[in-house]
Amino acid sequence: QDIRPPAQAPAPVALATVEPTPARRPLVSYVLPVYNEQDGITAFHTELTAALDGRPDLDFELVYVNDGSADGSLPILKRIAEQDDRVRVVDFARNFGHQIAITAGLDVAQGDAVIVMDTDLQDPPRVSLELVDAWREGAEIVHARRRSRQDTAFKRATAHLYYRILRSSTEVDIPLDTGDFRLLDRRVADELRKYRERSRFVRGIVASMGYRQTEVAFDRDERFAGETKYPLRKMARLAVDGMTSFSTAPLKMITKLGFVVLTLSLVGIVYALAMKFFRPDITVSGWTMLMVVVLFLGGTQMLSLGVIGTYVGRIYSEAQGRPLYLVREVIGADERDGGGER
Ligand code: UDP
Ligand code: MG
Repeated sequence: QDIRPPAQAPAPVALATVEPTPARRPLVSYVLPVYNEQDGITAFHTELTAALDGRPDLDFELVYVNDGSADGSLPILKRIAEQDDRVRVVDFARNFGHQIAITAGLDVAQGDAVIVMDTDLQDPPRVSLELVDAWREGAEIVHARRRSRQDTAFKRATAHLYYRILRSSTEVDIPLDTGDFRLLDRRVADELRKYRERSRFVRGIVASMGYRQTEVAFDRDERFAGETKYPLRKMARLAVDGMTSFSTAPLKMITKLGFVVLTLSLVGIVYALAMKFFRPDITVSGWTMLMVVVLFLGGTQMLSLGVIGTYVGRIYSEAQGRPLYLVREVIGADERDGGGER
């Protein structure tokens, strides 16, 4: 495999001197979600292809996923596809959302490496080639990490806080300040396709997969045209998806709360009974019974919710149907199995 230079690097060279056919160039696919980007998509495509022209050592494939745009994005994409045979367009029947659009693109992309990036020029095309370089040096997942960003102060502050809370409430090593701009090796992309959960937080899934991961830092530009397609509503939904798909902290909180409430109720019950027996003169008739019943029910209910929540959590993780493990390679495999693979 000539795409991973280290030990095998000399072999293809030796082969090339014997056979005149040059080694196949690695194919790099781009997965490009588009939702109402009519004002910026042409500029994006021009800038991306200009950057790609500087890399004759690679072949490229561009997969635009039109996520149910309600504007003129689709005709523009169709025109781009007609003029450039590296371009493919997946047209969704409606708006399924950014994360699903990425997923569809990954299902279609065939490259030896797949890059996911936004189409509003916030993720600069030249940085995507830095991701490729990191990949050729042996990384299997390359995250593009935002060193700085030009979004609104609100968006920056909430994102900053969110990634830190998420990271502290899950065992998954979710990289800070990275969106969905990243490169995946073919093997990782294939494994990622096995994750078929519906409410998906792709960046979390990728982080949880393991493999050799590295980061490339970049300065995130301003949106070239139009407005963010992530209004507060979509942002909140993504945040909840991220939290609930990688952390059981909210469920554990119910259980903890249950224990606290039950302990307090028992104290309350003891107090109510003590008042009844030692200070019957100031205890209103019926008060003790009422207190005992209310506190007991409150405490046990809260704890039961926690117990039920724990089982719901297990059902949830089963329902997600994630692969149990991911294998990088099986050493000592039959030569015929691995031999023809490129
Ligand atoms: N996008 C999409 N479907 C959506 C929302 C957004 O495909 O429902 C695309 C959008 O066209 C862009 C990328 O996802 O290429 C990121 O969206 P946006 O730039 O609006 O998000 P922001 O950068 O503001 O977080
Ligand atoms: Mg953007």
